[in-house]
Amino acid sequence: MEYIKSKIRDVQDFPTKGVLFKDLTTAFKDPRALHIIGWDLSQLYRDKGVTKVVGIESRGFIGGSILAFELGAGFVPARKPGKLPADTVRQEYAKEYGTDVIEMHRDAIGPDDIVVIHDDVLATGGTMVAAYNLVKSMNPKKIYINFIIELTALNGRAALPADVDVTSLISY
Ligand code: AMP
Repeated sequence: MEYIKSKIRDVQDFPTKGVLFKDLTTAFKDPRALHIIGWDLSQLYRDKGVTKVVGIESRGFIGGSILAFELGAGFVPARKPGKLPADTVRQEYAKEYGTDVIEMHRDAIGPDDIVVIHDDVLATGGTMVAAYNLVKSMNPKKIYINFIIELTALNGRAALPADVDVTSLISY
């Protein structure tokens, strides 16, 4: 874990002033760090019967794809509006300034699925709650939530549904 931490770059004032951005590109480009991230994420879900991993656009696509591959599960993208070609379900959510929308294909998840929703970073939790609501609306058997990094000072966990199992590899 210390090795991964040593490869995460802190960028001050990105994308706006006052934000300390946790940049995972420096970990993803490092072969050993990428391998450890993929392995450690998958160890959390080995025995859970996971059938689909949902990755949130766009940084959640990287860890989400690796996790799906490692678990022998399928990968499903949760995307920004207007990107998915077929029939979609959508969820609007509040951001610091204004609102945002994420979409998924309506047929992406079914009642037999056991789903992990993955994103790179948990900040306030708004994005993950929106993704969770979308996945929930498709009535899977079970939903797990996973991050690589959790920013505990922002208390995003409090925004997430209390009855859902949430994991993260690294907390700051
Ligand atoms: P939130 O909805 O506030 O939990 O924000 C989560 C989304 O914003 C994730 O998709 C992250 O990629 C990104 N994000 C928010 N804050 C940070 C941060 N300090 N460092 C890196 N990514 C962040």
